Amino acid sequence: MEAVEAADGGRDVHAWDAEITLDRLRGDIRRFASDRDWEQFQTPRNLLLALVGEVGEVSEIFQWKGEVDNGLTGFSEEEKKHLGEELSDVLFYLLRLSDVCGIDLGQAAGKKLLKNIEKYPVSKCYGKSTKYNKL
Ligand SMILES: [Mg+2]
Repeated sequence: MEAVEAADGGRDVHAWDAEITLDRLRGDIRRFASDRDWEQFQTPRNLLLALVGEVGEVSEIFQWKGEVDNGLTGFSEEEKKHLGEELSDVLFYLLRLSDVCGIDLGQAAGKKLLKNIEKYPVSKCYGKSTKYNKL
């Protein structure tokens, strides 16, 4: 794969490795947009609509397949690759939407997980799909 150097002399965006973090991905997506002068189009509303569109693309992959088992054993390698790409599109728009809204998604998600841990104590909800207010 051809390496591409960003205008700001940043690192090679094709050099993905195991060091990816949510924050690094957010920065790379921000730079991807700024390198193309796309910030002007990336308003919260536009990004939200793009996100919903990408969720629709994920839905299309599962459409008409009936119930699908964990691990997607009935999927071809090509279908799994396609799913990975569409889920990535969802993540990109989610991160970009959070970024333009001034929300640190990693921090927000960490706090929300703590809230959920309190809402759904293991002792009350183990093996149950009941909503927290019905436990
Ligand atoms: Mg897509």
